[in-house]
Amino acid sequence: MLKQPAYQNVTPEIAEALAAIAGKKYVIYHDPENLEAFSHDEIPGTEYRHMPEAVVRPETAREIAEIMKLANREKIPVTPQGAGSGLSGGAVPVRGGIVVSVDRMNKILEIDRKNMMMTVEPGVISNEINECLKEYGLFYAGYPMSLETCFIGGNVAENAGGGKAVKYGVTSRYVLGLEIVTPTGEIVELGGKLVKNVTGYDLVQLMVGSEGTLGFFTKIILKLLPLPKAQADLLGLFETLEQALDIVPQIITGTGITPTSIEFMDKNSVKAACDYLNETIPYENCGAMLLLTFDGPNMEQVENDYEQVGKFIEKHGVQEIYVADNPATTERIWKIRRNIGEAYNIISTRQSGEDLVVPPAEISKMIAALQNITGKYGIMAPCFGHAGDGNIHARLVGPPEWSDDKWKKTLPLILNEIYEKTAELGGMLSGEHGIGHKRKKYMKGFVSEEYLNLLRVIKRGLDPNNIMNPGKIFDFF
Ligand SMILES: Cc1cc2nc3c(=O)[nH]c(=O)nc-3n(C[C@H](O)[C@H](O)[C@H](O)COP(=O)(O)OP(=O)(O)OC[C@H]3O[C@@H](n4cnc5c(N)ncnc54)[C@H](O)[C@@H]3O)c2cc1C
Repeated sequence: MLKQPAYQNVTPEIAEALAAIAGKKYVIYHDPENLEAFSHDEIPGTEYRHMPEAVVRPETAREIAEIMKLANREKIPVTPQGAGSGLSGGAVPVRGGIVVSVDRMNKILEIDRKNMMMTVEPGVISNEINECLKEYGLFYAGYPMSLETCFIGGNVAENAGGGKAVKYGVTSRYVLGLEIVTPTGEIVELGGKLVKNVTGYDLVQLMVGSEGTLGFFTKIILKLLPLPKAQADLLGLFETLEQALDIVPQIITGTGITPTSIEFMDKNSVKAACDYLNETIPYENCGAMLLLTFDGPNMEQVENDYEQVGKFIEKHGVQEIYVADNPATTERIWKIRRNIGEAYNIISTRQSGEDLVVPPAEISKMIAALQNITGKYGIMAPCFGHAGDGNIHARLVGPPEWSDDKWKKTLPLILNEIYEKTAELGGMLSGEHGIGHKRKKYMKGFVSEEYLNLLRVIKRGLDPNNIMNPGKIFDFF
């Protein structure tokens, strides 16, 4: 049987070689205090952390190419890192070695108005993209809800989805071209400023969602859309979560209108976020909320859309509807949705954030099963997420009275049951946060051995020494 050859450590000589490539100022070595910041992403708790031996912050693709050649020669693992906002441990250097942070590669290189495309470096904060596009009347639609903290390179690596995916789809739809550094240190252009392109295999889409295991993105060409001139939100309060979720698949077919987003939050999620934010919206008598966004070329059309959808959901059991048609009220309700995760981080560190995805029409069944399973074990499981995409962010929160040991022993049992049900409903392990090392061991419950073998063939072809972000998604051997 094939076995992973041993990796080498980062010696003082290697650290010097890294300094010669990127500049001494941009290498962190033998400095635990400063290395620690690169040892984790945003998964709560400490068990998924791992310290790098060195961190390098290069400025160019050429520097990354030299780092990869050195790492291949010396058999040292290299983990790309963006802003570290991931939720699957993707950017954590689980086998030690070198973390390559792209935080200095943060330039917007071109806004090509005629082609409605832009070229950016991977370390641009996702939110900055739309900020700078406003004056051109354009926007980039693929960003996630963590837009203020994550980088566009990390979004491409995770194929991030976000609040607007119902209407606009996820990151992959907007990536037209990439400059990459391969695991063996070649700089290669993939795709380009092209709306159509079938010249060979679609390697751009192979790279999107590859979680830093197949290549470094050093330039990204993004497709842009005309900036919608008007937007409004509807907040619908429902008595039960089932009522709220059952209506979701019918909204588009029942009205012919595609909202920009359809988000859901159960009562526990709303309560936690409202407590965290000192927000006082009246949620006490409702079991769940749907948050729907509409956008369009003018306010007249947007009003028409939300009124029609409002009437439709009124006929299907909504208790109350609020409209947010100005930036202040929009921000007030979206802030609740955006802060649910943060609110639970404060309640308990004994928790697991799940990112299940099922066919959209199965979401109600999935949530019912989730509540059954977690109820049986006596744990809290607030649910929220992108209802329109069938993507459920369930937080499994350990009761405070449980010992760490009990939590660690029980969690896998609960997860096994939840994942079994997800697979049974035609779902998958992750809708947008990725597999990383957090979910790796559960892959086999969702994909066949033949599928895993195909992944291995691709990985081995591009990264024969398995040095690029090893220990992620699936086992190399
Ligand atoms: C509060 C909160 C809300 C969130 N909301 C969403 C959401 O709505 N939708 C969603 O999809 N995610 C969401 N996330 C998860 C996270 O923000 C996304 O996965 C994001 O895309 C990660 O970007 P990053 O720059 O932080 O990447 P990192 O966490 O640094 O890295 C993520 C992965 O990308 C790889 N990588 C990073 N840069 C490169 C590069 N240049 N080349 C190759 N590989 C690279 C890393 O190796 C790693 O595997 C949320 C997270 C938080 C904390």
